[in-house]
Amino acid sequence: MKFATKAIHTGQEADLATGATIVPIYQTSTYTQQAPGQHKGYEYSRTANPTRTALEECMAALEGADYGLAFASGLAATISVMSLLSPGDHIVAGDDLYGGTYRLFDKVLRESNKLDFDYVDTTDPDSVERALRPETKMLWVETPTNPMLTLSNVSLLSEMAHERGAIVAVDNTFASPYFQQPLELGADIVVHSTTKYMGGHSDVVGGAVMTSNEELRERISFYQNAAGGVPGPFDAWIVLRGLKTLAVRMRQHEENALAVARFLQDHPQVATVNYPGLPSHPQHELAKRQMSGFSGMVSFTLKGGAEAAYAAVQKTEVFSFAESLGGVESLITHPATMTHAAIPKEQREVRGVTDGLLRLSVGIEDTEDLIADLKQAIGTG
Ligand SMILES: *Cc1c(COP(=O)(O)O)cnc(C)c1O
Repeated sequence: MKFATKAIHTGQEADLATGATIVPIYQTSTYTQQAPGQHKGYEYSRTANPTRTALEECMAALEGADYGLAFASGLAATISVMSLLSPGDHIVAGDDLYGGTYRLFDKVLRESNKLDFDYVDTTDPDSVERALRPETKMLWVETPTNPMLTLSNVSLLSEMAHERGAIVAVDNTFASPYFQQPLELGADIVVHSTTKYMGGHSDVVGGAVMTSNEELRERISFYQNAAGGVPGPFDAWIVLRGLKTLAVRMRQHEENALAVARFLQDHPQVATVNYPGLPSHPQHELAKRQMSGFSGMVSFTLKGGAEAAYAAVQKTEVFSFAESLGGVESLITHPATMTHAAIPKEQREVRGVTDGLLRLSVGIEDTEDLIADLKQAIGTG
C-alpha cells in the first residue's frame, strides 16, 4: 500500500465487536478479564488502549517503521528517547533545536540526569565529526530547523555516528513523514510533535516515536508504560483522524508555501527568504535528494527591519499572529519575541533569528487569498 492509503486504512479495520467503520474512541481506563491472566490484550489504558494502538500502527506505517509509540506531547516523546541514556553519556545535538527541546536537554536532563550535551551546527558534517567522541551515545538532529529552515544530511551524519557506535534520532516534525523518511536515510529513531502536521488542525497536543529497531522499541515502550506520558483515547483519535488527510494536506501546504516563497522573493520590501524549495536556499540540492517535497514553513525578513515586521504581524488577516505550526490555517510568528524569546539576543542573532525575522506556517487556504493578505500587510513601499 502507498502512503495515502495507509493513512486511511492501516490499524483502522472495522471494529470487531460492532462493525464500526471508524476506530471508536475507547474511553476506558480498564478492561474486564475472563479469568486470571485471560484477557483480550488490554488490561489498563496507560499500558495500552485500542484507539492508541490504531494510531501507533498507522503512524509506524507512514514513517516506514516497524514500531510506533504515541505520547502525550512531542516533548514526552523526546524524553522517552532520552531515557535510553545513562548519567555521563555524551550527546551531540543541533545548535538550532526547537526551544522546548533545548530547555528539556539543558535545564532538565543535563542537571538531573547528568547527561553531557554538545550543541553543534549539524548542517556542517565537519562540526559533527569534531564533536563525536568515543563516549558519544546519541546524535540528535532536527531537519529542517526552526525558524531558519536549514537542512542536515541525515544519511551522512548517520554513517558518521554509527561508526562511533552512537544512535541517531531525528526530529521529523517540520517535514512530516509525507516529505521525509529519516529511518530510510539511516536514522535509528524518529520523533514527532504530532501537535503539528500529523494532527494538522491545531486542536490537539501529541507526540510520537518510531523505530524499526526491536531493542530500542522494547526500551522506549517500557519507559512509555513506566513513566506514563501517554495520550488519552480522545487525543489519540483526533491525531488518527488528522492522519487520514495528511497526504492531501501536505501537498497543499507545499504548493501554497512555494507560491508564498516566490511572491516574497520577488517583493521589493523583502530582504531575505528562507524556504528549502527555492533554488537560492543554501541546501536546495540536499532538500531535493533527502526530501520528496519542501513542506509548508517559510521565514523571511523585511528591508524595514524589526519595525516593519511588527507592523506586518498586526496587519495580516488570514494569517493569525500565533505560535505553533502545521495546522490547516496559516499562522505568522515573530520568533524573537515568541518561540525563541528564551535565547539570548546575541546567541539567536548568530543563527539569523533577528528582531526582523518573521516565520510563516503556510496553511491550506486559497493560495491567492494568502498572497493578497501578505501583500496588504507588507505594503509596497
Ligand atoms: C512543537 C515541537 C516540538 C515539541 O512538541 P510538543 O508537542 O509541543 O511537546 C518538538 N520539536 C519540534 C520541531 C516542534 O516544532
